[in-house]
Amino acid sequence: MKNGVLMKSDAVSLRGGWNVEYNYAVGQVGQRFFQALKQGMIIAPKCPACGLVMLPPRAFCERCFVPVKEWVKVASAGTIQAFTIVPVKFESLPDPPYAIAFVLLDGADTALVNFVKNIDLSDLKKAAEKMAIGTRVKVVFKKRRKGSINDFHYELLDI
Ligand SMILES: [Zn+2]
Repeated sequence: MKNGVLMKSDAVSLRGGWNVEYNYAVGQVGQRFFQALKQGMIIAPKCPACGLVMLPPRAFCERCFVPVKEWVKVASAGTIQAFTIVPVKFESLPDPPYAIAFVLLDGADTALVNFVKNIDLSDLKKAAEKMAIGTRVKVVFKKRRKGSINDFHYELLDI
């Protein structure tokens, strides 16, 4: 304290942590999307005004602000828009390293993130080169699906 004013060095802090489990209501749009995943397909809402096909799905067009009612099936292949290779452990995620990518699926206008699983991550620099922006990937569904984003992952084509 200096001249009656608290200084930064006077700050008191207590160490703590949060570990909160919860159920998240996905709503009508999320429910339709996840039910389609359970059936082994990816669908996306299409804006009636501008035609934007949005993934992850939204109830309203992010450009026109109009509600979307029509859904379209998108392709099971697409192009990497961004990626990362995660080298550290995060709670509730796989043991590192693992790769994730934002993929613009053919027929969609926005990218959907998921794991990329058929890549050798023993050499991170080489792995990053193989996942370069513009790389083509395919969607691979699990045989037993639960209606979850984990029902599918991406695999690089042409490796
Ligand atoms: Zn629109």
